[in-house]
Amino acid sequence: MNFHIPTKVYFEDNVLDKNGHEIVKYGKKALIVTGKKSAEKSGVINDLLPVLEKHTIKYAVYSEIMENPDILIIEKGKEVLLSQNCDFIIAIGGGSPMDAGKAISIMGANNLSLDSLYDPSKHIIAFPIIAIPTTSGTGSEVTQYSVLNNPITNSKAGFGSELMFPKIAFLDAKYTLSLSKTVTRDTAIDALSHLLEGLYSNKYNEYLLPFIYKGIALIYNTLSKSLDDLDDLFYRKSLMLAANYGGIVIAHTSTTLQHSIGYPLTTVYGLSHGLANGVVMKEIMDLYEPHIKDKLHGLFDYLKIDKLDFFSWLDSFEMTFKHKITEEFLQTRIPEVMKSRNMALNPCSISEKEIEDIYRRL
Ligand code: NAP
Ligand code: ZN
Repeated sequence: MNFHIPTKVYFEDNVLDKNGHEIVKYGKKALIVTGKKSAEKSGVINDLLPVLEKHTIKYAVYSEIMENPDILIIEKGKEVLLSQNCDFIIAIGGGSPMDAGKAISIMGANNLSLDSLYDPSKHIIAFPIIAIPTTSGTGSEVTQYSVLNNPITNSKAGFGSELMFPKIAFLDAKYTLSLSKTVTRDTAIDALSHLLEGLYSNKYNEYLLPFIYKGIALIYNTLSKSLDDLDDLFYRKSLMLAANYGGIVIAHTSTTLQHSIGYPLTTVYGLSHGLANGVVMKEIMDLYEPHIKDKLHGLFDYLKIDKLDFFSWLDSFEMTFKHKITEEFLQTRIPEVMKSRNMALNPCSISEKEIEDIYRRL
């Protein structure tokens, strides 16, 4: 058994105002890595710039990160990082900018080419990373992973390095108040996937159980209420905590088929990451159930519900797949899923046919 999260997490109201001075330890010039709008819409930039100015930390901004970032945008980010002489990274946004910030750090510090980005033997050093999440979903602020899209094969693949754990994560739920209803739902469902996958993964260990049960309970008890009242900060805090727990969990267990099967639904059909997990969630639970019966029933006892209650709760979020799975999709994407790293972590062996059946039933 092991438990190891090297990231220092601050989670409180006005988190940057109270703790932003910690940033001075990590460098003199930051590259702020973010999406087109999230840093401003969330209010992070408003809070962060005075902190940087107060501590005479210079900065450059790289705000080109798209959803499901691709490796070309990382390569461009590396050029900005090096040409601007930045010595650390502040990643602001959802999982996309946070994952991009991590990859830019590794790529820049080791001066990697795109060919060697995924080669762990080339990951020797990294620039320090500070993460400020503006969604409550990926938990990337406390994980060592970066998930990127390859635009040539149109496929997503992640890599992990201990060096990519952020040094500090600043969490303030007010930064999620500007999220739309759809992004709030989808990102919470992603967090739920991570927590469930902690139970499913064959790297599960007992240290994680409190995070898994509590995190799932927070989402189960809060998500509908938060969607009905998007301005409620209390519900936003619950979802942010749950998502952070999910990150802590997958930092230990990684993800499973639940995530691998969803990636092609994002790259081919454009489903958001969370929705791609959501549309297969019941099927995956059914598939794994015989192999993780005790843990799953323990969860439902903790929530004081049964599996059917859980499924009808999931149904209430109306996560539907509105496309048609094509034969070409099945032929090209099932082998991709079978080859993905997460497949080694399933609680049982999974056949191509089982994956095909899930896709066909969507
Ligand atoms: P995201 O792709 O980062 O953001 C989704 C959308 O929400 C974007 O349009 C973004 O705008 C917007 N947005 C973000 N924060 C906002 C705010 N506070 N107010 C208004 N709009 C806001 O979504 P995500 O679900 O958080 O991240 C998904 C990515 O993370 C996927 O690539 C997934 O594979 C990856 N992931 C990583 C891990 C990990 O451990 N590293 C785990 C799970 C998933 P902008 O475009 O302006 O930013
Ligand atoms: Zn995820």
